Amino acid sequence: MKRKKTIKPFAYDLGQDDLNRERNKARELRDSQWWKRRLAKGTCHYCGRSTMPKELTMDHIVPVSRGGKSTKGNVVPCCKECNNAKKQLLPMEWEQYLKKFDPTYS
Ligand SMILES: [Zn+2]
Repeated sequence: MKRKKTIKPFAYDLGQDDLNRERNKARELRDSQWWKRRLAKGTCHYCGRSTMPKELTMDHIVPVSRGGKSTKGNVVPCCKECNNAKKQLLPMEWEQYLKKFDPTYS
């Protein structure tokens, strides 16, 4: 895995223009061949379970509201279950949730 940029996990003071821009970029990415190929693999990024492409949603690893960008490095296909979990759980609880799926996670 190559790292391009360090994404800072802080809440940014984002303006509405920034949010709109990133959401528009996400929409463009969702229409791209790159994204369609990712969906075609039918795998959730987080839990690794096989998921029907139509059941996968686009998730920002770092949410746009936290300064995350709509770039290929920050969006992943995500099943509904993980998507809901990520929205509802606190960051700590989300970490715990992910551990269930990754035996090498310590
Ligand atoms: Zn999942």
